[in-house]
Amino acid sequence: MTPSTLVDTVIPLAVLLLTLRYVVACAWFPFKPHKRCGGTGGYRGMGGIRLCRGCNGTGRVLRLGRRIHNAFTRVRHDIRTDRRRELGR
Ligand SMILES: [Zn+2]
Repeated sequence: MTPSTLVDTVIPLAVLLLTLRYVVACAWFPFKPHKRCGGTGGYRGMGGIRLCRGCNGTGRVLRLGRRIHNAFTRVRHDIRTDRRRELGR
């Protein structure tokens, strides 16, 4: 294996596989544990245990890929709704 075949085939294939893995993760497990509270949804503050504001106490946040997917889905839905309205349906 020469260095050029490594650059031409192995690296793009690895990038493609990692991207596919992330897409599947976003589809099957859209949430990930919130980093700031460690997935517990709360933390010890003054006066006892408080809810984490970053995740609203759920301990979970949407993955970046899923947030992007949801934004595209929302835009597509809005375009379809506007088109239906223009056609008078
Ligand atoms: Zn949190």
